[in-house]
Amino acid sequence: MKKKINSIRGMHDYFPEELTIWKKIEKTLKEVLNSYCYQEIRLPILEPTSIFKRTIGDVTDILKKEMYSFSDKKGNSLSLRPEGTVGCVRAIIQKGISCIKNKRFWYLGPMFRYERPQSGRYRQFYQLGGEVFGCDKLDIDLEILLLTFRLWKKLGIENYVKLEINTIGSLNDRVKYEKELVLFLKKYEYLLNQESKERLYTNPFRLLDTKDIHLKKILKKAPLLKNYINDISRSNFNKLLKMIELHDIKYIYNQKLVRGLDYYNDTVFEWKTNENKSQNTICAGGRYDTLVEKLGENKTSAIGFAIGIERLALLIKSLNIFSDKIENVNIYIIFIGDLNKNYSVNLSEKIRNVYPKLKIFVDFSNCNLSKKIKNAVSFLARIVILIGSNEIEKKCILIKDLKNKTEDYISERELMLKIKTFFKNV
Ligand code: ATP
Ligand code: MG
Repeated sequence: MKKKINSIRGMHDYFPEELTIWKKIEKTLKEVLNSYCYQEIRLPILEPTSIFKRTIGDVTDILKKEMYSFSDKKGNSLSLRPEGTVGCVRAIIQKGISCIKNKRFWYLGPMFRYERPQSGRYRQFYQLGGEVFGCDKLDIDLEILLLTFRLWKKLGIENYVKLEINTIGSLNDRVKYEKELVLFLKKYEYLLNQESKERLYTNPFRLLDTKDIHLKKILKKAPLLKNYINDISRSNFNKLLKMIELHDIKYIYNQKLVRGLDYYNDTVFEWKTNENKSQNTICAGGRYDTLVEKLGENKTSAIGFAIGIERLALLIKSLNIFSDKIENVNIYIIFIGDLNKNYSVNLSEKIRNVYPKLKIFVDFSNCNLSKKIKNAVSFLARIVILIGSNEIEKKCILIKDLKNKTEDYISERELMLKIKTFFKNV
């Protein structure tokens, strides 16, 4: 028996049918980003491992367990990017930081994390990221929330997602808070599972957004992060909440919301859905005002967000929003007998010259006529053009309208004009 070949676990192929949803999502995302003056940036998938070590945090899950790292032929350690922000910051520093004052960038591409694969959680997944540099005003925090909310509205999912928001203050606030949190949790250490026990000593902050119900119960009595936030951060956060309310965006102030990466400060947020059962965060983001500095440049304020495309596609699919069928083919050309092939190819080229937006499929197969027609139907073709010797001799082409189930013999000239009547905007 032949051995089956498979993709790597957690890494998927996306066939055209699936990509129709992706394409609609991408088109909408790009339109909205464009309307907020975000510009595309394309970044390498491989980066030096060191830049992630310096920024994401040595004790985060990503760095400890999830990175795909390896040595190249010269022994340099490289990593498949687990997220886009760090590479984006590396790129703008390399280009010259002065060029990025008040700039907004977006990127779309695969990220890699060695996680336990399950629905909505993969080892290769796509993120659409947006990053804004050089703007320290709260207005940009608001603008990002408005932008993401507009996306959900344009995609028709605004009633199925909700915003959760928090402030995690400055790094100093966090250090102070973590000390208190550890003191508190040590009393319950015997009740914690192995993973939480480890985190208590490596990354206690991350324990706040645990999914473990026992720990969640314990945390109800834990010191509150909000009591450790400095005055400026706290007052800014209150202002931001008021601004959000003025724009009629509903939110949940989730004091336990933190981010998995070390570089965040102040505002953090997530858009969550109840529809995807387990992996329910479709977009996450926040401020990272110290990251540029950590990579060796002058302090530059920054804020960003990332959308998980697979999770968004799962949500849209489960809601059955884009159910309309898309024509894979507009015109399906069938010729009978090899002698008529050249004429058919020439005709298809002429149609493409006049109507460059149309999708024209010439059937080169050896199937019989009825099989070819069946194929045209399964391709959701709108019209079939049939070319046999008879047709060429009589200079008449048979055109079948598959939608209205009519057919007609017309000249090539008439055909060229008639095509327009079948399709909008050609
Ligand atoms: P989670 O808590 O679900 O692991 P995270 O905090 O690790 O998420 P981020 O690093 O903030 O996620 O990434 C932003 C978004 O990218 C997530 O909200 C999610 O939609 C998506 N995402 C993250 N990891 C994966 C993955 N392994 N597979 C699919 N999508 C993912
Ligand atoms: Mg994660």
